Amino acid sequence: MNILVINCGSSSLKFQLIDSESEQVSAKGLCERIGIEGSQLVYSPAGGEKTTTVTPMPDHTAAIKLVLQALTDEKTGVVKSLDEIGAVGHRIVHGGEKFAASTLITDEVIQAIEECNELAPLHNPANLIGIAACRELMPETPMVGVFDTAFHQTMPEEAYMYGLPYEYYKKYKVRRYGFHGTSHSYVSHRAAEVLNRNYEDLKIIVCHLGNGASVSAVKNGKCVDTSMGLTPLEGLIMGTRSGDIDPAIIEFLAHKENKSIDDIMKVLNKESGVLGLSDGLSSDFRDLEESYRKGEEAGIRTLKTFSYRVAKYIGAYTAAMNGVDAICFTAGLGENGSFVRSMICEYLGYLGIAIDAEANGKRGEDIVISTADSGTKVLVIPTNEELAIARETVALVK
Ligand code: AMP
Repeated sequence: MNILVINCGSSSLKFQLIDSESEQVSAKGLCERIGIEGSQLVYSPAGGEKTTTVTPMPDHTAAIKLVLQALTDEKTGVVKSLDEIGAVGHRIVHGGEKFAASTLITDEVIQAIEECNELAPLHNPANLIGIAACRELMPETPMVGVFDTAFHQTMPEEAYMYGLPYEYYKKYKVRRYGFHGTSHSYVSHRAAEVLNRNYEDLKIIVCHLGNGASVSAVKNGKCVDTSMGLTPLEGLIMGTRSGDIDPAIIEFLAHKENKSIDDIMKVLNKESGVLGLSDGLSSDFRDLEESYRKGEEAGIRTLKTFSYRVAKYIGAYTAAMNGVDAICFTAGLGENGSFVRSMICEYLGYLGIAIDAEANGKRGEDIVISTADSGTKVLVIPTNEELAIARETVALVK
């Protein structure tokens, strides 16, 4: 069955068409600047040429119409008609406490997702627009919602509650939700396969290190803790997001800089993280690594602080699970940044971890990078959220 995977943002839309039997991508692409002047469709059919078409896309329905046209185009298309698309899987950022698993999309489900909008005001409305546009153009095709938060819904109360007045949980559901769940689930399952072990018998820590970054603790097949919270701002130091800080800093800076809370939140989301810590040098770890190697203070300070924070979370989650069998690295930095991986693993000698330098230098494959006698296994597992969404979608529509 062909599954169309849609990841809809406020002005962009990423898509992949995946054959569920072979699990190969038939075509993928991206609509950018939807609703803004200069919108364009980037389209890559498997084995074909990548094309960029600048064309007006006043809204998401127009964007999806263009995607469907490209997929069924006589020359560059990969299916003959829309009937060959068996289902659509939509990435949805926030499912609140309502969604602990992927679900078939119905009118009631859409209403329940809308009720989660205030928890993710930038993302959920855009996801819903994508769903509405697809339903309009493919009214007979089943659709599935796959939530970034769902995998983390198994966390126990002590992991998801904050030390705040309980009434805020009761009134507004203020609690830890966690994000990147599709990636944490995919990678932890894959780690068990690579290690040839039963998923339910393992204690796994997944470090999803990309521009956004989060860690999760997966014990006996269930997520028991994760570093992102009510929003994706908590936890690790990220590309431009601060991660954990003393909350009193917000008031302190607002007074000192004569800024509003909204202004400070913008600083914490867009101007902090490794970009801020490196004094504006870069949010890209490749630039920071270069700076570190040149012996510059900015690169050294930033990578040391970043790695230390990751190592601290690994320590906390090892304690939370009373041990750890496998530590996995994934996403842009986790998969490609062998240097930062080594820096993090230097803290993990207490787990009996030793890294095989040759394996750590490889790229693009599922690989164990710890030595054979390493007490805890360390793996690099390239994440594949689109494939995970396609698998969830097939499982529900079959
Ligand atoms: P993602 O958000 O998963 O796409 O990850 C993006 C981040 O991965 C970028 O900010 C880069 O800093 C990082 N990254 C990508 N390639 C490399 C590499 N070869 N070495 C170090 N970091 C990398």
